[in-house]
Amino acid sequence: MSATSNTYDVIVLGVGGMGSAACWHLARRGVRVLGLERFDIPHAMGSSHGFNRIIRLAYFEDPSYVPLLRRAYENWRDLEGRFGEQLLFITGSIDAGPAGSRTVEGSLAACRAHGLAHRVMSGAELNRFAPGYALPDGHVAILQPEGGFVSAERAIVAHVTLAQAAGAEIRAREPALGWEPAGGGVRVRTERGVYEAGRLVVSAGSWMGDVVPALRPVAVPERQVLGWFQPREPALFAPERFPVFNMEVEEGKFYGFPVWHVPGFKIGRWHHLGESGPVDALPRDCDLRDEEAVRSCVRRYFPKADGPTMALRSCFFTNTPDEHFVIDTLPDLPQVVVASPCSGHGYKFCSVVGEILADLATQDRTRFDLSLHSIGRFAPQATGA
Ligand SMILES: Cc1cc2nc3c(=O)[nH]c(=O)nc-3n(C[C@H](O)[C@H](O)[C@H](O)COP(=O)(O)OP(=O)(O)OC[C@H]3O[C@@H](n4cnc5c(N)ncnc54)[C@H](O)[C@@H]3O)c2cc1C
Repeated sequence: MSATSNTYDVIVLGVGGMGSAACWHLARRGVRVLGLERFDIPHAMGSSHGFNRIIRLAYFEDPSYVPLLRRAYENWRDLEGRFGEQLLFITGSIDAGPAGSRTVEGSLAACRAHGLAHRVMSGAELNRFAPGYALPDGHVAILQPEGGFVSAERAIVAHVTLAQAAGAEIRAREPALGWEPAGGGVRVRTERGVYEAGRLVVSAGSWMGDVVPALRPVAVPERQVLGWFQPREPALFAPERFPVFNMEVEEGKFYGFPVWHVPGFKIGRWHHLGESGPVDALPRDCDLRDEEAVRSCVRRYFPKADGPTMALRSCFFTNTPDEHFVIDTLPDLPQVVVASPCSGHGYKFCSVVGEILADLATQDRTRFDLSLHSIGRFAPQATGA
């Protein structure tokens, strides 16, 4: 199939979590948008696969994320209404760790700053409330009733389907081989053609540094592995009885989910084995060492889920040095908008980041406060800044 025209208002480079949302928010505004994706839609080579991603309001990373999150929830609900499929699943969520830990104190700070509903429990109280957990009594757990998860791959399908219905042209298996400024806009080259547009949105995930080399030092891919383990008492790990969690324990920082779509309790360890580098050089296969890194937590804190392995899968974070996002225009090329909202916690924001990227690409500004996410904070690390 060939394009009717090679000229667009906006080209979105990378149609994963963020890019699919950007395509929808641009197309719904009547913008002529082309989305270019190097793999399939959806696919399992980047950051957004594996069925689901945690969403939560009380944000221990920084309270200033909460206004973005409120809008993200609104947009997820709007998306599922339009698409006709549930994408947001509310299970409650737990932030847990020793008193004084960043997860606990950060979560409480966000609750206080924004008046968020929450309940503080001891480890023993949590274990009674949700008996899949076996947290030490000395730990503190904060329950947020509005936490849960988003159906990640289906949300990409939803965003792309709605974007196409609104007129977007989306092309999978068509990697952008290069781009350059052209007049006040951009020119993008693929094996199939050359496309021009007034604006470029780069949402290339773990390939950001390949597409925008100036961002290589501040968008660093890191290998992650998720494990799914058959619960010995499956009813305790059903979505109705098991809130999603983030927790700090001696063995590291972990996050996990109830049983959903894979017959196993799902768990990952933040920064897994510390393997960073160019994404195409990082291993994709998983082995016993990967399994042990996550099973150590299951054995001790979720012993009723410590059954046979159901699945192990790799996936990639794209980390910034301070683990906040990059959402900005390039300082020397204002027609290029870049989005690297990951550092392991970006997916929940796709629905609002898509709106923000559409704002930046069509109006050069957004009503959302992006000061935490500017490129300028890393100068001179990002050489383009
Ligand atoms: C294991 C794991 C667990 C996570 N858990 C959570 C969680 O619980 N909650 C949460 O909120 N977040 C979580 N995250 C983070 C979240 O998944 C990411 O923030 C999000 O997926 C990033 O989306 P993205 O669009 O930037 O990247 P991607 O979805 O990977 O999209 C980038 C796209 O760009 C394409 N691309 C790259 N180069 C080119 C090119 N040259 N031409 C065309 N296309 C190109 C890629 O193929 C890809 O499709 C997790 C991440 C991982 C890996």
